[in-house]
Amino acid sequence: MIIAIDGPAGSGKSSLSRELAEKSDFTYLDTGAMYRALTLLCLERGIDPRDEDVVERVAQHLDISFADAPKGTEQNAEGASETGQRVFANGQEVTDAIRTAEVDENVSLVALHPNIRKIMVEKQRVFAKGANIIAEGRDIGTVVFPQAEVKVFLSADAKARATRRTIEREGGDPTAPGAAVKDKAFFEKTYADILKRDKIDEERCASPLKPALDAKLLDTTHLTLAQAVDTVLKWAEAARAQAAQ
Ligand code: C5P
Repeated sequence: MIIAIDGPAGSGKSSLSRELAEKSDFTYLDTGAMYRALTLLCLERGIDPRDEDVVERVAQHLDISFADAPKGTEQNAEGASETGQRVFANGQEVTDAIRTAEVDENVSLVALHPNIRKIMVEKQRVFAKGANIIAEGRDIGTVVFPQAEVKVFLSADAKARATRRTIEREGGDPTAPGAAVKDKAFFEKTYADILKRDKIDEERCASPLKPALDAKLLDTTHLTLAQAVDTVLKWAEAARAQAAQ
């Protein structure tokens, strides 16, 4: 079975997907981390993210893998390991390096290119072969796994999303009661970045961010993580029951 979780930055995809994976026998696939890893390699090599041909060559040679972080170490001091997974690109650990402001600013430019998306989608399909998968991203229900049995499109008010993302990056847990932003200026920067990335992701020609026609919409602005998890688990149970008929 495949559960596809799509939505804009900070809508709660990572927390929800990780929690769902923990409560089930599903493997978690963070496709945003893959685009981030590619972006990081390009930045390290001084490659312009707009140069599709060169970025494509880097993508072709990108070997990406994931490992579960040991329990209790989901967040480091900067909150960088916000998905609770360790990420490796061509053998090098990039878990924290892919969550910097510089990667945030460039990743949507890398993800714009159709040929690069084809390569990444192929890698995502290989990863999922034969497994029960919870995949999160922007085009999972529309392009990567249109056959997914459960498709969820998350949304949330942009300020709420920026608040969550800021708290994560400050090393906090945005789902904890009373969690609050520490650095107002950092929040403003994160908010501006999220709006900019949403615009690029929604307006690009190749696989724009949008709900699949058969996706279930879930606005997480006023939901706790537990409520969101329960809702999606119920949808997954219903899909499983339907498939068994
Ligand atoms: O989910 P995350 O915020 O880590 O994703 C980073 C960026 O990667 C997104 O803003 C988007 O530009 C790109 N992305 C994408 N398609 C996906 C996952 C991420 O274009 N399936």
